[in-house]
Amino acid sequence: MVEKILANLKKSNCMTDNTFLQAVSEVLNSLEPIINSDSRYEQFAILERLVIPDRVIQFKVQWLDDQNRVQINNGYRIQFNNSLGPYKGGLRFHPSVTTGVLKFLAFEQIFKNSLTGLPIGGAKGGSDFDPKGKSDFEIIRFCRAFMRELYPYIGARVDVPAGDIGVGSREIGYLFGEYKRITHQYDGVLSGKPYAFGGSLMRPQATGYGVVYFAREMLAQELQESLEGKVCTVSGAGNVAIHTIEKLQQLGAIVVTCSDSDGAIYDPNGIDLDRVRELKEGGKRLSLAEYSHQVPGSIYTPKSEYPNEAHAIWQIPCFAAFPCATQNELTLNDAKKLIENGCIAVVEGANMPTTPEAIELFQREGVLFSPGKASNAGGVAVSEFEMSQNASMEKWDFDKVDRKLDELMRQIYKRVSLTAKEYGVERNFVNGANIAAFKRVAEAMILEGF
Ligand code: GLU
Repeated sequence: MVEKILANLKKSNCMTDNTFLQAVSEVLNSLEPIINSDSRYEQFAILERLVIPDRVIQFKVQWLDDQNRVQINNGYRIQFNNSLGPYKGGLRFHPSVTTGVLKFLAFEQIFKNSLTGLPIGGAKGGSDFDPKGKSDFEIIRFCRAFMRELYPYIGARVDVPAGDIGVGSREIGYLFGEYKRITHQYDGVLSGKPYAFGGSLMRPQATGYGVVYFAREMLAQELQESLEGKVCTVSGAGNVAIHTIEKLQQLGAIVVTCSDSDGAIYDPNGIDLDRVRELKEGGKRLSLAEYSHQVPGSIYTPKSEYPNEAHAIWQIPCFAAFPCATQNELTLNDAKKLIENGCIAVVEGANMPTTPEAIELFQREGVLFSPGKASNAGGVAVSEFEMSQNASMEKWDFDKVDRKLDELMRQIYKRVSLTAKEYGVERNFVNGANIAAFKRVAEAMILEGF
């Protein structure tokens, strides 16, 4: 059955959709223990329907650069499944964006959002626009042009986009401004807005803090361990990585790495987060090589030094590893090295950063492994808190959001680990997450008919 669905999917998706097929095949294979447990799954063709997006919207984005030249990019929104609530998921602005990449992200989002227990469906969107090196006014003109094409398809009760790689509160602010100018509506159509107008406190921190809350709970429950005094490695230097590092440091861990698309930093004395922020935040995209010039004792390794399916960051010995950069950034070779160096837990902050072969090895060797759809769900959860605050015209304080986030991450851990136990795959959090998320979505799909 799973084989047949995958074969059909391969036939109907072009080669650029490899990451999508990777994500679908992981989920379907992990559903094996429950597929036959309920005859309604087959009767309602749940698996067959679940792997096809409700709608793939593609549009042309035309904007003027600072030299008054017309520039053109592809824009997308993939509305995958809204059985549990309005479509929800981020926008990614990065040259690697294709329909295939967004289909994988939107598909993952259905399961992640289901795991939060909140009423949100799954979607993703974005553009192959590269924000690197663009002026603030170019970003404004691009965001306005993007929203001009996107606005008919979204709404506070229809589809609520947010940020992802290349899209932070600055871009969401510009997108919201244009939405408001076109529609005259002041509603929660986007989340991750600046706090000055409708954003939730803690949305910028939410994904990274949530990753660490999840890790803390998993380590305490599974191994009676804490993060205090432990050496941790984190990849990335964007919003998720920065707030993962911040929370790990607050809990007393020693974070010794970070990275960007050009290279990695190893700082045995512990990453100086203020330096990273100076180089990376507020739309600045300066090279991390600068960090090694400024901080004595730190070492910068350019990406080109690790050409063979391995990454500098994962060669560093650590207690726990937090891949927070992008998909497929932790390979089988990296996994071997991490295990050899005594790593006991891998907690994903990015979406699908670990390759299937690396995950298999971690599980075989007893390394605790948490998939992004469980451990990075704090971001979208606080987005839903923002939708709630917007709908009721309220503003919650920092502590309230933080408490709710911590509680929600514990709940997700519990749901995932109990489900894994229940279905005979104890400590397999990939299968636990997929099964728990699937059950909730499948039930809604059955109850709403077709
Ligand atoms: N892009 C984030 C994610 O991968 C957040 C989505 C949202 O807040 O809607 O979950």
